[in-house]
Amino acid sequence: MRQIIGGKHDFAYREVSAGDARRLFADQPYKLELIDGLDEGEIDEYGNEVTEKPVISTYKHDTFEDLCRGPHVEHTGKIVADAFRLLSVAGAYWRGDEKNAMLQRIYGTAWRNRKELRSYLDQMEEARKRDHRKLGRELEIFIFEDEVGPGLPLWLPRGSVIIEELERLAKETEEAAGYERVRTPHLTKEDLFLRSGHLDFYKDSMYPPMEMEGVTYYVKPMNCPMHHKIFGSKLRSYRELPVRLAEYGTCYRYEQSGELFGLMRVRSMQMNDAHIYCSEEQFAAEFMRVVDLYKIYFDLFDIDRYVMRLSTHHPKKLGQKYVDNSSLWQKTEEMVRRAMTEGNVPFVEEPDEAAFYGPKIDVQIWSAIGREFTLATNQVDFAQPERLDLSYINAAGEREIPLCIHRAPLGTHERTIGFLIEHYGGNFPVWLSPEQVRVIPVTSSHNDYAAQVEERLAGAGVRVASDLGSDRMNNKIRQAQNMKVPYMLIVGDREVEEETVSLRKRDGARQNGMPVGAFVELVTECVASRAQTL
Ligand SMILES: [Zn+2]
Repeated sequence: MRQIIGGKHDFAYREVSAGDARRLFADQPYKLELIDGLDEGEIDEYGNEVTEKPVISTYKHDTFEDLCRGPHVEHTGKIVADAFRLLSVAGAYWRGDEKNAMLQRIYGTAWRNRKELRSYLDQMEEARKRDHRKLGRELEIFIFEDEVGPGLPLWLPRGSVIIEELERLAKETEEAAGYERVRTPHLTKEDLFLRSGHLDFYKDSMYPPMEMEGVTYYVKPMNCPMHHKIFGSKLRSYRELPVRLAEYGTCYRYEQSGELFGLMRVRSMQMNDAHIYCSEEQFAAEFMRVVDLYKIYFDLFDIDRYVMRLSTHHPKKLGQKYVDNSSLWQKTEEMVRRAMTEGNVPFVEEPDEAAFYGPKIDVQIWSAIGREFTLATNQVDFAQPERLDLSYINAAGEREIPLCIHRAPLGTHERTIGFLIEHYGGNFPVWLSPEQVRVIPVTSSHNDYAAQVEERLAGAGVRVASDLGSDRMNNKIRQAQNMKVPYMLIVGDREVEEETVSLRKRDGARQNGMPVGAFVELVTECVASRAQTL
């Protein structure tokens, strides 16, 4: 690398014909495959179809010429010699497909100066330490089991506590915002998914069907059609609208095994789902009320960097990827655009990323260490209500089709918890901590008192354990620290005598001789307010 940088070789660009390219790379079979894709199939180097025939170009520096669309720096001397790092060498399947041959890939990174490189490497190191797959196992939150299957997480007791807390949060927030809760089955007859459009537009993400008693069933990839049936189960008046139906629903979606990634891409997921049925006049206000929910959660989780992305349809893909109704696409996209603009919500637009039934807002957030996640979505649906014959009686006594907003501000448990593990580095706020308090006796003679303290805390609804094993106290403290328990209570002679505890917080702060009652108050108050700090 340094030799090449020292040579200050220009990067020379040229466009070549497919024939020239084939001659140039005659002994490189994978390059030839790329050239064929570009030339015949109009497939780009990522394997995506492209509408126009792509230009085949190369870059050359010194004696090395390669297929490349660029861009490049002007010459190799522009790479700062002490601001790059070759990171690793790893096997990579050709075109990301495990059925293909494995190639060698060299990873590297280059920055404007040494300081930027350093800060990037530090951030990567921090990300590695906080990786939710690593911490998820160490903190006993979730596991994957071969015999259960890839992409199907098993939530351990500690992870289930986090799930219960998130659901409690969602239920409280949604109840205050006028939602009603419903529950629906995991299996549904084929007919419903035909009518909803899922089998036309979403089949690739669904599991194969199963036959029972001559009827075909699918496991649900989304909860919407069932919620629509609940809305449609009685005659609705405009006075009832908006109707907001919420469910933490479990869905199953097919993801290729090569694309599965920890909790971020899974095959079974529990979704913070709800469907809001409203009139067109109510749409903007309802939409903004959903955005308000996001903000409540962002505040609570201390997420200060986020961006909303409005995904719209692609006019050339109507009928294939999107429901074929050009005027409704334009109208609903404009409604969302206007609601966001009038509500002063900054957003960017992304064409050809909508749901099949309408435009959507994806919310991208950044964790404390700067990793980007797409968590929540908010979608407008003009297609499914009509397909499922949903209607209400308007003020003039006529039948009208409601609009539907699909929303999931807390995303799925899988992604949200994956995010939160990395965001907090496992140091969850007290209300989310699977174990909030650990009582540690100085010697075994203090075990009885430790058990009493535990009982008192448990009686107050605190998640507490006492470590009465035969390990030395220092070991017990280290184990509690490893599990990132927010509060440790050390009890010895003095504490027994005074009926107090010595508090050691996860962040290192200490307070000796604290009356048990005062600690109970501290922890219950911290939980009740869902405080960020200990
Ligand atoms: Zn939905």
